[in-house]
Amino acid sequence: MNLLVTGGAGYIGSVVTAQLLAEGHEVVVLDDLSTGHADAVPEGARLVRGSLREAAEAVLAEGGFDAVLHFAAKSLVGESVARPALYWDANLGESLALFEAMRRTGVAKIVFSSTAAAYGDPERTPIPEDAPPRPTSPYGATKLAIDGVLTAYARLHGLGAVSLRYFNVAGAHGRFGERHAVETHLIPNVLAAALGRHEAVRIFGADYPTPDGTCVRDYVHVVDLGRAHLLALDACAPGAHVVYNLGSGGGHSVGEVIDVCREVTGLPIPAVIEERRPGDPAILVASSAAIARDLGWKAERGLNEMVADAWGFARR
Ligand code: UDP
Repeated sequence: MNLLVTGGAGYIGSVVTAQLLAEGHEVVVLDDLSTGHADAVPEGARLVRGSLREAAEAVLAEGGFDAVLHFAAKSLVGESVARPALYWDANLGESLALFEAMRRTGVAKIVFSSTAAAYGDPERTPIPEDAPPRPTSPYGATKLAIDGVLTAYARLHGLGAVSLRYFNVAGAHGRFGERHAVETHLIPNVLAAALGRHEAVRIFGADYPTPDGTCVRDYVHVVDLGRAHLLALDACAPGAHVVYNLGSGGGHSVGEVIDVCREVTGLPIPAVIEERRPGDPAILVASSAAIARDLGWKAERGLNEMVADAWGFARR
């Protein structure tokens, strides 16, 4: 297929681009490089630098595109609380421009990066796709709103759309991994402490109602996540918008993650307990039963492999 990947210079977009190329697809990456890196775009993909508003229609009008994979977004929860207008504009506004460009150029399939943050603090766990979406941050709200637009475009314009709600993505794929200017995620921060870049890992709260008091999250290897995108592409059906969770169905606490990092690196990795981080629910675990049933997807790589691959990437 001929594919447009928005945000293909970022962490997940670059991994999926590499997987698409390996499967023989042609890829154009559209990225404004505001948080992505030009050198993260896999060889063999053409990089167009620009925003979706500025450039999506011109690229799609070149013709021949079968589908879009839409990763480009701002994704820092804390920043979204401080700067909601930035997030509504960058996430919803830019996405609307992309969807209109697709409609005008006749590109009728899309796979969209949605998020567990769309659910907010869950009533029950594991979280199924029909749980009431009650995002607790502007970030989650913008992603949920984009899901709503996709549903409308499927009904109105016959778009075939699949939204994948990511839980905690981790690991790396060779030279493609997590490289954020502001790193908020647990595993890269623990590994940065292992490399001596921080004095200690900060554990945000050890008084949650969980077995060891630290928050439990559902970690998925980025390579498993990428495979789900390939399956979702094939599953885009005209006039339908389907939402699938992507998780492993199990959870690991912050304490467990740090222990696995110590085991994999062979380093002591000091940790200090700090205050809870505002907005963190105690437990976020996905039910991935729907995508297993419909598309036969299942997470295959466990936490040790995620940490080992992230460690390989961090040391490069
Ligand atoms: N966390 C932590 N120290 C860090 C980064 C994260 O204790 O340096 C905790 C965070 O409070 C949450 C879990 O690790 O409970 C996962 O956080 P992350 O930011 O990786 O993902 P999120 O679940 O927020 O999407």
